[in-house]
Amino acid sequence: MRWKNAILDLKPYQPGKSIEEVKKMFGLEKITKLASNENPFGCSPEVLKALHEKKNNFALYPDGYATILREAVAKHHGLSEKQFIFGNGSDEVIQLISRSILEPGKNTIMPTPSFPQYKHNAILEGAEIREVELVDGEHDLDSMLRQIDENTAVIWLCSPNNPTGTYIQETKLNAFLEKVPQDILVVLDEAYYEYVEADDYPESIKLLEKYKNIMILRTFSKIYGLASFRVGYGISSEEIISRLEPAREPFNVNSLAMLVAAKAIQDQDFIQKCKTENRKGLHAYYSFCEAEGLSYYPSQGNFILIDFGVDGDEVFQYLMRKGYIVRSGKALGFPTAVRVTVGTEEQNEGLMKAMKEFLHETVTT
Ligand SMILES: *Cc1c(COP(=O)(O)O)cnc(C)c1O
Repeated sequence: MRWKNAILDLKPYQPGKSIEEVKKMFGLEKITKLASNENPFGCSPEVLKALHEKKNNFALYPDGYATILREAVAKHHGLSEKQFIFGNGSDEVIQLISRSILEPGKNTIMPTPSFPQYKHNAILEGAEIREVELVDGEHDLDSMLRQIDENTAVIWLCSPNNPTGTYIQETKLNAFLEKVPQDILVVLDEAYYEYVEADDYPESIKLLEKYKNIMILRTFSKIYGLASFRVGYGISSEEIISRLEPAREPFNVNSLAMLVAAKAIQDQDFIQKCKTENRKGLHAYYSFCEAEGLSYYPSQGNFILIDFGVDGDEVFQYLMRKGYIVRSGKALGFPTAVRVTVGTEEQNEGLMKAMKEFLHETVTT
């Protein structure tokens, strides 16, 4: 076969272990998955109600314009309907951006370690990748600026950053955007936006007025608790959105996904409750880490990266045998850490107990 050269070394994405896989492997009854930053409280009850009431005609194609979803999301953000592009997850919006802008001869700048899909898609498009190491878990924006040249086409920023949970402060983001040439697209991936509590976290939507070259990514997979439906979206200027639209598959968001996402965004009480619970859970993990002498990054997301100082796979394997699926830091660029999704109080306590057992068993043997 005459494969693209660029894809020859590319490996498929390795997702976190699924509950079904682990059940089968260990014959365990109760498995708790805290590996992929899903919402432990599920989704808004309004979504479940809508699903029950819906009499779908499954024979019809979805609405290619995603009208009900577009209206709900535009209203929520107070923006024009033409400023949105919807994807089968924000993953797909990352793909659309890459597909429309990147190609051999161009380069793209991204932080590392960060969300792997920026790099993955850039490889598929044959673009040159310029990765800039985080410093103390944070984006090194000055070094990112220094990587810009006349062939730079897209810069990716992830805030809060996955897997560290760190964020870019408003003054730093502004200073950065001032210096980026207007013909380079700056993508702000804000998959965990709704969880953020920091006062100096930028309200990026306000920046759209001033900077015509930014694209914000949001998703229904994290706090909205709808990961299985696959809905995410990009927000930008009408001009940029209209350039991306031709690369989008005509019916990329399915009918049920549109329905549930439109319902979910109208129930902000549920979102607030989840945010509050998440904050409590994070603080419980902070206290645990401090008591056990483990280092961690304070997080603005619904996950925490904890450094155990030993092979992350070993911690991961141990916890899995106890019925807890977390994410080994090995594949995430932090080989001695694990990334844990904040769960319900009961899940967090159970996981911390198992982590404590790990620490005490490995010390004594
Ligand atoms: C989970 C995640 C996404 C992908 O979300 P989907 O909308 O489910 O595709 C994108 N970016 C970051 C940083 C994430 O953590």
